[in-house]
Amino acid sequence: GNLNKKKWLHMKNLIVGCGISGATMARLLADQGEQVVIIDSKNHIAGNIYDYYSDGICVHKYGTHIFHTSNKDVWDFISRFCQWYPYQHRVRGLIDGQIVPIPFNLNSLHALFPASIANKIEQKLLDNFGMNVKVPILELRKKDDKDLQFLAQYIYEKIFLEYTLKQWGQTPDEIDPSVSGRVPVYISRDDRYFQDKYQGIPIGGYTVMIKNMLNHKNITVKLKTPFSKNMKYDRLFWTGSIDEFFDYRYGQLPYRSERFEFITFPYSRFQDVAVVNYPCNYDFTRIGEYKHFLNDQSDKTIVSYEYPEAFENGKNDRYYPIANDMNTELYHRYLSLAKDMPNVYFFGRLGDYKYYDMDKAVARCLELIKGIK
Ligand code: UDP
Repeated sequence: GNLNKKKWLHMKNLIVGCGISGATMARLLADQGEQVVIIDSKNHIAGNIYDYYSDGICVHKYGTHIFHTSNKDVWDFISRFCQWYPYQHRVRGLIDGQIVPIPFNLNSLHALFPASIANKIEQKLLDNFGMNVKVPILELRKKDDKDLQFLAQYIYEKIFLEYTLKQWGQTPDEIDPSVSGRVPVYISRDDRYFQDKYQGIPIGGYTVMIKNMLNHKNITVKLKTPFSKNMKYDRLFWTGSIDEFFDYRYGQLPYRSERFEFITFPYSRFQDVAVVNYPCNYDFTRIGEYKHFLNDQSDKTIVSYEYPEAFENGKNDRYYPIANDMNTELYHRYLSLAKDMPNVYFFGRLGDYKYYDMDKAVARCLELIKGIK
């Protein structure tokens, strides 16, 4: 919608950033009867979950996004704005020339090793941990059993080491353990990437879901509109990076970014699943094939090759905060500046400098709104 002059002069609630965090907060405020203006410097809504249709295929412009949560409140909230395609995410990886399930599980084990070895290791895993148990690779490496040592070293080298070097520029030992812990070894025959009760892709895509969220008489959306210090507001909701709000006075918070090479192929199928990882080969980390998410029917197929790179201000976009002691300390220095500003709220992956999944971003808003009159 258009903003008249009066609304620009003084806004009740100004939200900066129209991604899933900003849009969720806009809707929560609007539902409480608040007038909301939400701005974004980009020319589209939905932030990094933005998607669009091409050749009948819903393509995620900023890489594959799969909604999954065990939080019923989050699921119920999002479900007001979309219907779900019951997609269950499966990822495979090229390991020693075999396409095997990722996270590494018992099926991967049996695909990669002769039966005698696989059976022996499987028994060890079951004896030590039990069935359907998730073990972070850095934990598995600590076991002093020699067969488990062998397995852990194999998985560390073939699945984590080079992928993580590409993704983060550091080894799994150097980065925060929570990052490799997102993809634990799974002692199970369950090939899915997530085991959350609720999983799916919004029918029609994420952009439509966000559009529905913002479709409220109390919400005004302004695109191609960067934040300016001249804007007047009672309350400000900032989902950009917190260092930017404070003009980088202590220096920049580092992020990782991504470059996507999109290719359209003139045939209907590229790979068996939506995402295939290439830990040890090539310079990209993974290839996404988008038609899998909504079972889109098309004679063509669209895929993206994903190349991680450093975030550089003005050159590419922020994707991943980099969790380590130094960066966390820098983030907290910025956060302490925010203490004197009771009418400014920081949240979202960039505002909180946290590696949120989509559901965690929404959960953060559901909590935050409770403290706001
Ligand atoms: N990872 C890896 N090899 C894989 C998959 C994941 O080394 O085949 C590590 C890597 O460090 C990655 C992290 O686990 O950054 C988290 O993976 P996830 O798939 O959760 O990343 P996202 O989808 O959020 O980019």
